[in-house]
Amino acid sequence: MSELGKTILTVEDERPIREMVRMSLEKAGFDVLEAEDGEQAMVTIADHRPDLVLVDWMLPGMSGIDLARRLKQDDATSELPIIMVSARGEEEDKIRGLEIGADDYVAKPFSPRELIARIKAVLRRTEPGGGEKLLQSRGLVLDASSHRVTANDKVLSMGPTEFKLLRFLMSHPERVYSRAQLLDNVWGANVYVEERTVDVHIRRLRKVLTPTGHENLIQTVRGSGYRFSEQY
Ligand code: CA
Repeated sequence: MSELGKTILTVEDERPIREMVRMSLEKAGFDVLEAEDGEQAMVTIADHRPDLVLVDWMLPGMSGIDLARRLKQDDATSELPIIMVSARGEEEDKIRGLEIGADDYVAKPFSPRELIARIKAVLRRTEPGGGEKLLQSRGLVLDASSHRVTANDKVLSMGPTEFKLLRFLMSHPERVYSRAQLLDNVWGANVYVEERTVDVHIRRLRKVLTPTGHENLIQTVRGSGYRFSEQY
């Protein structure tokens, strides 16, 4: 199943609920991270780049809705899927949550089954590539759901970092990213690796792409960084 390997962050101050959510999600094959409040959630998101965040509406300090708004306004996290969770169960809350950009809304109390169904639906909808699981460019095809990359129908073998790097670049074509930006987006912020590491993985990626002539899609922009582009 494609949810294997997906990481969900649950932001909830009430420990019993957090633990119930963790257990249900782990049972369904997800990896789970926890945060007790908005501040902790922001740090965890920057450090671990989860695939989806469950945000409880009522949190101490920064409210759930404020947290969701901040995540949606920040370029680095605007595409991170968010499901709002609220005990109030009012239609107005639901509308407000969706208005600020949350991807779905679940009312407490919810059953684990309902929660998991919602999570899977949102993940399917928000898969990189606008609902499409395939990223394609000049015969190079990256299938995010099966973690497979082919070039002219031939399967390419590459390491997990090269895969993530290629997926990020293919999802954002024609944009130049500095080494620091690539580290933040692919490795995660606050991961202490040297910028040179990016060059090493770009080099490995190009090597994998060279036999079919696709290495030119990964372009060095002198003084700035790297870009994925079909124009060469
Ligand atoms: Ca709460």
